Amino acid sequence: MSNIKEEILTANAAYVTEFGDKGNLLMPPGRGFAILTCMDARLDPAKYAGLAEGDAHVIRNAGGRASDDAIRSLVISYKLLGTKEWFVIHHTDCGMETFNNEVMGGLLESSLETSSVDESGWNDSGNGPGSTEGKYINWLTISGQEQSVVEDVARIRNSSMVPSEIPIYGYIYDCKTGELVEVPAATKVGAPG
Ligand SMILES: [Zn+2]
Repeated sequence: MSNIKEEILTANAAYVTEFGDKGNLLMPPGRGFAILTCMDARLDPAKYAGLAEGDAHVIRNAGGRASDDAIRSLVISYKLLGTKEWFVIHHTDCGMETFNNEVMGGLLESSLETSSVDESGWNDSGNGPGSTEGKYINWLTISGQEQSVVEDVARIRNSSMVPSEIPIYGYIYDCKTGELVEVPAATKVGAPG
């Protein structure tokens, strides 16, 4: 077994011993809300937003972007599981600010090894073989933090599958302090109609 696998299974065994009555939790989120946020390892929504098991839906992807699949999850979240308020939470120092579609397409074409980054940007070993498939994907990169939150809240708000009464709040998590800072323009766009 890899060390990581062993560590995870050891941690899980300890979790099981303290699982208590959580087996009785219901499927719909008890506190009735959902968070869309970035997969960045420094962000722990359970900690930064005070969540326990059963409380809320947390939808994560690279950047916390309102991709078609994120919207799919949010629609299920309200339509089948009753959430009534949504948060879009991006963050400072997001990796999605460090490249664009063209860069990612080029890195993947160059090789499938992990690329490295320095002051000049992303570099690839060029050892090949790579893939041109990345050139066909919109990687939903971020060119401005506040702008990306506003865009994503607006995209969710404007979806014909999203009811106007659900408020959508926009925030940026500060990786240096742990603070959630509201993006008022996003929350305004996401206000219930
Ligand atoms: Zn991020």
